[in-house]
Amino acid sequence: MMMAGPCSVESEDQLRTIARELKKSGVKILRGGAYKPRTSPYAFQGLEVEGLKILRKVADEFDMLVVTELMSPDVLDEFETYVDIIQIGARNMQNFSLLKALGKSTKPILLKRGMAATIQEWLMSAEYIMAYGNDDVILCERGIRTYETYTRNTLDISSVLAVKELSHLPVIIDPSHAAGRWNMIESLSLASLAVGAHGLIVEVHHDPEHAMSDGAQSLKPKKYAEMAIKLDKVSKVLDKKLV
Ligand code: PEP
Ligand code: MN
Repeated sequence: MMMAGPCSVESEDQLRTIARELKKSGVKILRGGAYKPRTSPYAFQGLEVEGLKILRKVADEFDMLVVTELMSPDVLDEFETYVDIIQIGARNMQNFSLLKALGKSTKPILLKRGMAATIQEWLMSAEYIMAYGNDDVILCERGIRTYETYTRNTLDISSVLAVKELSHLPVIIDPSHAAGRWNMIESLSLASLAVGAHGLIVEVHHDPEHAMSDGAQSLKPKKYAEMAIKLDKVSKVLDKKLV
């Protein structure tokens, strides 16, 4: 399952421009952050509920689903209204009160691996959501912090094999936050397919040089389209499918 879109929702025009291109490449799930967990309090924090409304409107125009990050249970009601899949970011993987609140949600949860979390800790966080009443959890490997600094994080593709041995949950890969560099995304996506991930979530921006967040790791729509064709061809050879 391919999920793609900008790191942040910046405006209705920006999201529409990107979604229109992604639709042509067969993307059915649109990503975009409305509540952004930024390292600096002075960096763009997201359009918040306005961003959720833009996501819903644009996704509906192109018959897509919305995946976006929730940082606090305070706005869970708004997410229930506007969002199809609730993303929990790496920084909140062990926010246990948030995880408990998600147990009451009617939406599937995309649970990212914490940047310093073991596979066992990641699975226990998924267990929290399920123990509190919501069985629809999708795991997402997005790279872990190691001593290496050339890439933003280190993509642990073997974690896909581990969680497939240890649990029944679907697992996808986010090569964008793992690499932090757009020119690595295609190869890491092909590797994700080969290792047996059930999908990908990829950052795409029509003008990455001016993106309000994560431009350096964002593919332009044309590159995304080229990658999607290669993924499709390779999936046939591997007899695995990323829809
Ligand atoms: C994101 O998806 O934009 C994001 C902030 O990801 P992560 O939580 O993996 O850093
Ligand atoms: Mn991002």
